[in-house]
Amino acid sequence: MKLDNSTTNNLYIKASKIMEAAYVPYSKFKVGAAILDENDNYHVGCNVENAAYPIGNCAEASAISSMIISKGTKIIAIAVTGYGDMLCTPCGGCRQRIREFSSLNTPIIIGNEKKIQKIFTLNDLLPYSFGPENLNN
Ligand SMILES: [Zn+2]
Repeated sequence: MKLDNSTTNNLYIKASKIMEAAYVPYSKFKVGAAILDENDNYHVGCNVENAAYPIGNCAEASAISSMIISKGTKIIAIAVTGYGDMLCTPCGGCRQRIREFSSLNTPIIIGNEKKIQKIFTLNDLLPYSFGPENLNN
């Protein structure tokens, strides 16, 4: 789906702001995420690391948890931000997490501390994906 500029910017700004809250004593790599759900509610999340590295949480996972707590069930669009010029695209696990609550054309807005860098669809980042409908046959 096509997002209007105001919604796109809102998502980017919310992700950028919450990025500052990240708990990243080990990697120092802050990530923020913001979701717009089907009820027009926004949900944000940041990454939260742990001394036992593998149990750290990604920003996208935190934002999805917030959406579920608030009774949202569908990601209309999501923004993910990180520092630097390289694209802070969702990790493989988060692409699948987003897939659970999205359609294939759900926009995924990627930005850094300065600007929106690129907008993908979920299908761009996770082609030929496996989702809930695979289990409904
Ligand atoms: Zn992730």
